[in-house]
Amino acid sequence: MAKAYSNEKSKQLYEKAKATLVKGIASSFHKAAYEEFPIYFEYGKGSKIYDVDGNEYIEYGDFGPMILGYCHPSIDKAVMEQIARGSLFPGPYRLLHEFSERITRLLPCAERILFANTGTDANMVSFRLARAHTGREKIIKFEGHYHGWSDEQLISVRQDSLNMMGSRNNPWRTRVTPGQPEKSGNDLIILPWNDLGMVEETVKRHGREIAAIIAEPIMGNAELVFPQAGYLQGLREITQEEGILLIFDEIITGFRVSLGGAQKYYNVIPDLCAFGKAVAGGHPLAGVAGRKDILETNVEHAGTFNANPIAVAAGNATLKELEKPGVYENMTRLMRKVTEGINRIAQEKGITLFCHGEGGIWQLAFGINDQLVDYRDSFRVDKKKYQQFRTESLRHGVHYLPHRGRMYMSTAHTDEDIEKTLAAFEEVTRRLRL
Ligand code: PMP
Repeated sequence: MAKAYSNEKSKQLYEKAKATLVKGIASSFHKAAYEEFPIYFEYGKGSKIYDVDGNEYIEYGDFGPMILGYCHPSIDKAVMEQIARGSLFPGPYRLLHEFSERITRLLPCAERILFANTGTDANMVSFRLARAHTGREKIIKFEGHYHGWSDEQLISVRQDSLNMMGSRNNPWRTRVTPGQPEKSGNDLIILPWNDLGMVEETVKRHGREIAAIIAEPIMGNAELVFPQAGYLQGLREITQEEGILLIFDEIITGFRVSLGGAQKYYNVIPDLCAFGKAVAGGHPLAGVAGRKDILETNVEHAGTFNANPIAVAAGNATLKELEKPGVYENMTRLMRKVTEGINRIAQEKGITLFCHGEGGIWQLAFGINDQLVDYRDSFRVDKKKYQQFRTESLRHGVHYLPHRGRMYMSTAHTDEDIEKTLAAFEEVTRRLRL
């Protein structure tokens, strides 16, 4: 008989860890408010992760970096070889040149690139470049789009009630978090996503003050909200007319929606893009790519650990794997197999949900049966149902993100994983009577 599920050791570790580690976690995203305690992980291999209680999970909730799965031999080999040569140099090195050439070849907007450690840093330097290059200060940001956690970035990101947001014509600016100055984001203009008319109107009124528009090309931080047909193209045209830079935050979509990111997938080339997460297969690396004249603007950009050789070795090995023929086709095939399978089961059982993906990301949203349009629209999703589903799925060997149904596919997932995921979906929804 199968062993009964227990996560007692995670619970005990959490109680102990809180005595030294703030809140027992290392990032605000490591535990959702509804969870009593987070799962403590032990190791991962391929498409599976294992927790301290010995439970095995098929992994879809890694936040996006693990595009080759866990402990990929090519990444591990490259990292070990680099460690033997040195973990950090006080200047540039040969592999950095090879890696930069590779990224420049893969990302359509990349004439030049620079490196940072995290998505937050990368977007910070993209704002600075845009302002220095244009001599303008305002930046248009969209409701619910997440670009990092600095004072200026953490604006119009999270809200717990639609009522608090006010009218759509007076877009929701901010509810600053503790420690974030009230004036944070005063140079941001906040607009709803997928509404070209509002962008046009704003640009007409404030065009000369606006340095850039920044957007997640697929909005990933409030469920998944895909751009409507022609929307990204529209942003491209409006910005070009007014000398405003278009920045795509491809921290999630880069090297994931396609090898050339969302810009390649939708064929809309931004002036700048931030990349991170999947680029180094689980190692901390991010950067900005884009037009030569913008990237070569003279701005301060520092960072002791920028492009550290271990992360660059991991990144170079990751991209070499991703460049192999058929990789994205197979990941997309598996993404379709799981999303179509879930839709079929849901239809048979009369469960209202929307399950859809592009390349290596997919979503599972309960309570809706069509595409979301913008952040406000994402309040239609039944989050409670998702939370119940996610908690029960752990008992059936599948790990999803605790907060929302944004799922990451890796090249390590197999047909067998998908079949098990679908069987677990069927069982979990039956048990919970969803
Ligand atoms: N931009 C987007 C679209 C993200 O999803 C994230 C992280 N979830 C960031 C930026 C920030 O990246 P990091 O956590 O590496 O600072």
